Amino acid sequence: MTDVLKDLYQQVIVDHSRKPRNFRVIADARKVEGHNPLCGDHLDMYVKMDGDRIADISFEGSGCAISTASASLLTESIKGKTIEEAEALFEAFHELVTGVKPRPEERRMLGKLEAFSGVCDYPTRVKCATLAWHTLRAALRDGKHEKVSTE
Ligand code: ZN
Repeated sequence: MTDVLKDLYQQVIVDHSRKPRNFRVIADARKVEGHNPLCGDHLDMYVKMDGDRIADISFEGSGCAISTASASLLTESIKGKTIEEAEALFEAFHELVTGVKPRPEERRMLGKLEAFSGVCDYPTRVKCATLAWHTLRAALRDGKHEKVSTE
């Protein structure tokens, strides 16, 4: 990756960590709590379904820049998607941050989320980047697990 591209990616993460999108409570939504004890990241995720589709999604909480930016970009990327599409994006994102080079169709799917490709060089930060995604997955799979921990 060129330095210019690295800087651009960094900007996306800094921007979303300072001004997180969809940072709010959705009153009548399913709520799942995510916690990453290793770093101290903590978030509440709100997911509102319309049948099989994610009609609205938001989060609140506090954590490091990586976890906040990841949750913010997640909400932007996942809104309006079906559960199946969200699962595919989860897989692509997980591969990206664990160092698997994305295929062209995955790159298209990831879009801005590719900003997190550098995280694979910092194994301790992978949990920061994936916390929101594990929380989302729990919210989509069933409403029973109201707490998710990366440990
Ligand atoms: Zn963190």
